[in-house]
Amino acid sequence: MSERAVGAGIARDITLYGTPVLHRPTAPVTDFGPELHQLVADMFASMYAANGVGLAANQIGVGLRVFVMDCPDPAGDGPNVVAHVVNPVLELPAPPRELEVSGEGCLSVPGQRGDMARTVTAVVTGVDMHGAPVRIEGAGLVARCLQHESDHLDGTVYVDRLTAKERKKILSAAGLPSS
Ligand SMILES: [Zn+2]
Repeated sequence: MSERAVGAGIARDITLYGTPVLHRPTAPVTDFGPELHQLVADMFASMYAANGVGLAANQIGVGLRVFVMDCPDPAGDGPNVVAHVVNPVLELPAPPRELEVSGEGCLSVPGQRGDMARTVTAVVTGVDMHGAPVRIEGAGLVARCLQHESDHLDGTVYVDRLTAKERKKILSAAGLPSS
């Protein structure tokens, strides 16, 4: 039953910057039943429909600690990193951290990008929708995605890490309230 539900994900509307659920920490998942399986399926469907490489649950209006990703391998020739993580915990390298500045975008701030420094590598641990342990380790775009989605679940959108001036410029270019 749950596997059928997983195959039947429904693309839901993406929550835009300014919607309260995007700006507060999400709650840990405690119920691993069919509703969680449907949520993961809907998140994949929503991410693919919007041509994203990652999506957090609060981006479809659900305040739970879950993200999905389908992110190109930074080496360029490997398979994409396709995963969902429930109750993720982000681990960054010990200081001094090597940072990489690159243009970063978000489905909740449509059509815009901003330069963002992120650590070159990152690790996320958590569980899958069945409660089995998950560990994702990545570099480059994968590491950036792990940091971006973990931020979402803590109520932080990438533009919140920019200066007020940059944030206003990007939000207003996206047609979103910037005050
Ligand atoms: Zn985002």
